[in-house]
Amino acid sequence: PKKYLIGGNWKCNGTKESVAKLVKTLNSAGPIPPWVEVVVGVPAIHIGDVLKTIRKDISVAAQDCSATGYGAFTGELAAPMLADFGVSWVILGHSERRTNQKESSELVATKTKAALDAGLSVMVCVGETLEEREAGKIDAVVLDDHMGALKGKFSDVEWAKIAIAYEPVWAIGTGKTASPEQAQDVHASIRGWLAANVSPAVAAATRIQYGGSMKGANAPGLLAKPDIDGGLIGGASLKAEFITGIAAAA
Ligand code: 13P
Repeated sequence: PKKYLIGGNWKCNGTKESVAKLVKTLNSAGPIPPWVEVVVGVPAIHIGDVLKTIRKDISVAAQDCSATGYGAFTGELAAPMLADFGVSWVILGHSERRTNQKESSELVATKTKAALDAGLSVMVCVGETLEEREAGKIDAVVLDDHMGALKGKFSDVEWAKIAIAYEPVWAIGTGKTASPEQAQDVHASIRGWLAANVSPAVAAATRIQYGGSMKGANAPGLLAKPDIDGGLIGGASLKAEFITGIAAAA
């Protein structure tokens, strides 16, 4: 059976001092159940320190990587560079990057391929805005565009290293969580898309995480749904609650 996947996304937060403190907090936050995999998405500049100090049962993710490899690409962070450093995961296609850095679904697919080729596992973020939801465009955005760009690009073996994070944009950082039923509906459509467009085996094995104002108080209701296999947590991943309230609820 698949493990729950609880990811933290620290976003662009943290000084050397606050990161050291957060690592201490997470390290002493109590046990992680064996059926839960925990990963923290760390700002690139803090990755080295976190890799050296964080408990062994928490893996480290980058929050983005380059679509290209080593070479003359000023300012980029190549996937093989992350892998060489000991990073095991990367978060790709977060809505903040799709919006602020104008990342297209095609680019996200290219980056996913680069990450997989380097041996990294990938959390690919998908999700609609409130305007798109109200216009009845959830499937058009999440399935046809965000998932659609991944179609035909990866083998089943590669898919084993991909998790999908459903993050409705209207729920991110707003305190407005999707209800467990709203999230379950979209998660079931994503799993149906995987069955129809990749394979039934991949659909069954892929972890689909929910993200958007997830916290200790709402995690149990969300994680109880049949197609919610974990979370991707922003604000609450900067607190002990990430382990004691969310990982422990899985
Ligand atoms: P919040 O948990 O702060 O809403 O952020 C969710 C998110 O964007 C995780 O990637």
